[in-house]
Amino acid sequence: MNVAVVGTGYVGLVSGSCLAELGHQVTCVDVDVEKIAGLNNGVIPIYEPGLEELVKRNVGYGRLRFTTSYQEAIPDAEVVSIAVGTPSAEDGTADMKYVKAAAEEIGKNLSDYTVIATKSTVPVGTAEMITEIVKANTDCEFDVVSNPETLREGHAVYDFLHPSRVIIGSSSPRATDFMVHLFAYLDCPKVVTDPRSAELTKYAANAFLATKISFINEIAHLCEEVGASVEDVAKGIGLDPRIGKDFLHAGLGWGGSCFPKDVLALSTLAASLDYPLPIVNAAIKTNVHTRERVVSRLEKALGSCAGKKIAVLGLAFKDNTDDTRESAAVAIIRELHNRGAEVRAYDPIANVTSEHVGFDLEHSADPYSAAEGAEAVVIATEWDEFRNLDLQRLKKAMSGDILFDGRNLLSQEEAERSGFRYFRVGRKSKM
Ligand code: NAD
Repeated sequence: MNVAVVGTGYVGLVSGSCLAELGHQVTCVDVDVEKIAGLNNGVIPIYEPGLEELVKRNVGYGRLRFTTSYQEAIPDAEVVSIAVGTPSAEDGTADMKYVKAAAEEIGKNLSDYTVIATKSTVPVGTAEMITEIVKANTDCEFDVVSNPETLREGHAVYDFLHPSRVIIGSSSPRATDFMVHLFAYLDCPKVVTDPRSAELTKYAANAFLATKISFINEIAHLCEEVGASVEDVAKGIGLDPRIGKDFLHAGLGWGGSCFPKDVLALSTLAASLDYPLPIVNAAIKTNVHTRERVVSRLEKALGSCAGKKIAVLGLAFKDNTDDTRESAAVAIIRELHNRGAEVRAYDPIANVTSEHVGFDLEHSADPYSAAEGAEAVVIATEWDEFRNLDLQRLKKAMSGDILFDGRNLLSQEEAERSGFRYFRVGRKSKM
């Protein structure tokens, strides 16, 4: 099929290149002139395993192209997928300005019946809103469907090509047929429902997963108090198929470009309808507390953060991505800085600007130079590289002996053998 993907970020670029891989003819359109110029010169703007080869292969086959022109992308498309950002607005709702702008441009450039499918995570009622905007800009026939994306950064290419399900929220059998055809090669259940249910499904999924993480973090904090092991508790409960083992890793709480803004948008939507969601709100509260608790434990171990040199290993919100949006690592760095610590950071892929982190953060070239002269080291992202640290070398580089493993990557015995006072999440600290 001829497909246009609007927005060439984490979701749009992966979706566009995967749809091309499935044999469709795809044009990706973005308003970011530099990004499109780079893509047209083979520069992939994000780090995502497998993406570069996929883009290059499909550009080579002539199935994938990039443009800033809606006029070039839209008229021939049978399906237009919207994958622009929906960040948090100041009041906690999803900011819809990019979706509205995209809908207007799509409307102006339709030439024949087209299915407009929203991949962006959007509030309930958005399909109707897009329909109004497009209708005001075209005489062509069209349908709007909700097709929320469920890929995970760091595994995005695999997830797109091997999804657990495809959600199609449609009120038109003709549009549903187009969407089923689009994803015909994906061997997974296709959940066909109405647009409002599809839009809410995405928010409910993210809120449920965030709640599961907050739950295990609460249990981890209790383990730290009572002298139990959160990993053993998680294993013990996760083997129950009614609970499941995924999303039971205690750590620094949930972050990234989706959970924080989506959970907040859901909570804000519900509150505006006078139907607050106590469980979802508690998950948010526990997440804030989880980050504060790490900094407090560290401060207790150091006596005070003021004037202390602290190395933070990891900036990305999780491994295998360069995305630092709402990263727990960045939140912890900010808090340590606010408490007077001198922070230095290392991440194998991600960087943060001083604008994002709030001060001029020193980036080191490797974990050992980050640790040079530091009183404490904090592991904040679960990169594989940190599982294999040379602990004796790390310890030698430092002036102090505190290793705070915020992702529970290391063995307590080995860390202690290397001379560290070792702290992990969900285990009582030996002070
Ligand atoms: P992103 O910020 O990486 O990319 C958005 C892109 O849209 C940018 O390149 C931007 O230049 C472009 N854009 C903005 N306005 C535009 C317009 N009018 N026309 C064309 N392009 C425009 O965002 P993302 O992480 O890819 O997320 C996109 C959506 O997908 C969000 O709603 C997000 O919640 C959802 N989502 C994200 C993920 C994820 O893991 N990142 C997973 C599932 C769903």
